[in-house]
Amino acid sequence: MIFCPLPGKPLVTQGFGQNPDMYTPFGLAGHNGIDFGVPEGTIIYAPHDGIAKVVDDGTNGYGLSVTIEDSKRQSVLAHLSKTTITNGQTIYQGDPIGESGKSGNTSGPHLHWTYKILKNGVVQNKDNGFEGAVDVTEFTRLWLDQDLHFDAEFADTAAEYLSMAFPATQYLQNPARHS
Ligand SMILES: [Zn+2]
Repeated sequence: MIFCPLPGKPLVTQGFGQNPDMYTPFGLAGHNGIDFGVPEGTIIYAPHDGIAKVVDDGTNGYGLSVTIEDSKRQSVLAHLSKTTITNGQTIYQGDPIGESGKSGNTSGPHLHWTYKILKNGVVQNKDNGFEGAVDVTEFTRLWLDQDLHFDAEFADTAAEYLSMAFPATQYLQNPARHS
């Protein structure tokens, strides 16, 4: 299962394979990923587990990007404004990995996500016109937000619960929760 790197109902601004004319100069048959329209500073979450690689290409290409890879798959999350992880760090699905931005070669703030299938660490179908990148939208699960406690709706009959306090042995607080 792959999670969308953005919670809620993300806005796709450029789908996989679009605009071949724009990508031919890069040797691609079209857009090699998915673009999401998000304001700068939006928190980005790991779509799956893996080892992180942080690359900062400055004003070129993907700008500040995080690649998350295990033996079976690889995600590149690009044009970030900052990242909270370090090179070589083990990442788990749903971990916040940084914030979106407009670093690198981009006309404005958005999140670019490239997904590739790997076998024993080797990118598959490298000659598919997209250097192995695939459209993974049908396998990607949208998620509404990080936790039930803050984001569920509570009926009047649950009002009592909302004003209760629990010790750490009874309530698990998520230190990574964003504000
Ligand atoms: Zn893109």
